[in-house]
Amino acid sequence: MLQSIVLQAPAKVNYRLDVIVRRPDGYHELRMIMQRINLCDEVTISLSSEPGIRVRCGREGVPDGEGNIAWKAAKALLDLAGQPSGVEIAIQKNIPVAAGLGGGSSDCAAVLLGLNELLGLGLSREQLMEIGVKLGADVPFFVFQQTSLAEGIGEKLSPLNGLPPAWVVLVNPNLPVSTAWVYKNLQLTQRERLATIPDSFEDVAAICGVLANDLEAVTIPAFPVISEIKRELIAQGACCSLMSGSGPTVFGLFDSEATARKAGDALRTNRDWFVAVVETV
Ligand code: ATP
Repeated sequence: MLQSIVLQAPAKVNYRLDVIVRRPDGYHELRMIMQRINLCDEVTISLSSEPGIRVRCGREGVPDGEGNIAWKAAKALLDLAGQPSGVEIAIQKNIPVAAGLGGGSSDCAAVLLGLNELLGLGLSREQLMEIGVKLGADVPFFVFQQTSLAEGIGEKLSPLNGLPPAWVVLVNPNLPVSTAWVYKNLQLTQRERLATIPDSFEDVAAICGVLANDLEAVTIPAFPVISEIKRELIAQGACCSLMSGSGPTVFGLFDSEATARKAGDALRTNRDWFVAVVETV
């Protein structure tokens, strides 16, 4: 039996985020286009003879024990397996925290997928997604592992195969933004009808036609630097730019690696910002 597994847990960006309605339980019905990118946390999961779950992350702002969403994933699977196994989880955090990039949800999904293997549980992807949505609304997407249209609170996933690959420049102004705070401050406006999402896109520039994020209306007024970064990405040659999730990370889409790298270098001159040049996966 395998004793240890190392998984790359990718971040995501939202090409689109429409907030449809607030449900009585406080969650929001959404419609999102979700795209994984190759900025990854490294999650090492090991079985141990000592019972209990231990999570080591060592990143400021990320809890090491029960508060870590990766711990919750391990607990859910151990409870289901009814096995008194011990689990050690080490997370090397490369994805900025509370940044709109889904890092915690991706770590959580990696533990569900990895522990399912290690413990030989044989749970299907659908079963893991059902367990995942109870831990976080973005977790099913990272278990699904495909570019998706996500509806409901994020758990109803349909694959989107028509999106071309793109170079992505990420810029995070290093201001942690609480997702709960953003949704609490969102003023929902009545929409006539939702914009149609095409089945296929000719090139990266065509993706720009669908880019929109309702949460910008809350986060940008509180952190105007987000608008400044969006403008800067366009000035550096991005086809288009948008805030991801609840922010504050902004991404620019590029159709050429050289332009993306040059833009990344230009934006790195601001030392307070985290900048990464990555690809869609
Ligand atoms: P989303 O876009 O899904 O809202 P996010 O990128 O804005 O996610 P995360 O980085 O996933 O936010 O983390 C949000 C909060 O969750 C953090 O403030 C942190 O304290 C807590 N947390 C718990 N476990 C983790 C983890 N493994 N990685 C990051 N944050 C975690």
